[in-house]
Amino acid sequence: MDRYRPPDALEFPRFAGIRTFMRLPHVQTTEGVDVAIVGLPFDTGATFRVGARFGPEAIRSASVLLRPYHPVLRVHLFEHLSIVDYGDAPVAPGFIEDSLRRIADFLSRLTLAGVIPIGLGGDHSVLLGELRAVAAAYGPVALVQFDSHPDTWDAYFGHRYTHGTVVRRAIEEGLILPERSIQVGLRGPVYGPEDWEAARRLGLEVMSAAEVRAIGLESASRRILQRVGDHPAFLSFDIDFFDPAYAPGTGTPEVGGFTSWEGLFLLRGLVGLPLVGMDVVEVLPAYDPGGITALLAANVVYEGLALLAARRRDGLPHVATLGARPEGL
Ligand code: MN
Ligand code: MN
Repeated sequence: MDRYRPPDALEFPRFAGIRTFMRLPHVQTTEGVDVAIVGLPFDTGATFRVGARFGPEAIRSASVLLRPYHPVLRVHLFEHLSIVDYGDAPVAPGFIEDSLRRIADFLSRLTLAGVIPIGLGGDHSVLLGELRAVAAAYGPVALVQFDSHPDTWDAYFGHRYTHGTVVRRAIEEGLILPERSIQVGLRGPVYGPEDWEAARRLGLEVMSAAEVRAIGLESASRRILQRVGDHPAFLSFDIDFFDPAYAPGTGTPEVGGFTSWEGLFLLRGLVGLPLVGMDVVEVLPAYDPGGITALLAANVVYEGLALLAARRRDGLPHVATLGARPEGL
């Protein structure tokens, strides 16, 4: 069976056609599919600015600029992967717990069929639905979280399900293995010294923005790979990892962040990471002059696709076929 791939932009202009991620075919099948892009247009979990429900369409629009060959990793995405745009998960705006269940059900169709989902957010609360779906297929996964926030607070306004509490909920539900998980890029003012400490007490490794600067980008990437080892991993990329100068269109910006190049360089250092899922979240088009945040988000997804394609090129198993379900599940 032929791979799903976009039309050739030298034959059919990139600005033409209906917007899907990278102009990929919009099909809802798992047959012959390695990776599925899925929109998660939900922002009821946001505690500050809202509007990330429009993130997926903005990322898709920006993604038509992406070209199929990654010159740094030297990999052609569509020579190694069959990729589709699976459409959007059926969320219920205003109803977070129901939406998380719907997202998990929707994505489970993919994960249980061995398809790697890549979510386009949406606020970060959607991660809980995504992790439920990957854990249903693989058991608890390693979480690699790029973010300026730990998202391990217990509650906001007396409520347990928000984008700021999602990682704590995921640990409580047994969806991730803290001892294999790492948070990268934390910075900015917090409520107290216990905020970052709480993430560490939950068993997560925390690499603050200052630590990344101190040890350098290559060492930071190596530390991520070491932490995860060969365990199935979910890469969750909160776009506020970047400085608001590069990613202004986001829900809770923090200054003193990373440049576009630094973020892409860190990701390119993760070749070999055994990914079973990924997302890019917190893209908020209403605060995004020039669409620069959405363009950056599309490129973050592209780096993830290149990592997956490089695994295939290097003869490493498509992790979704590993049957990595741990004992006891
Ligand atoms: Mn954040
Ligand atoms: Mn976050």
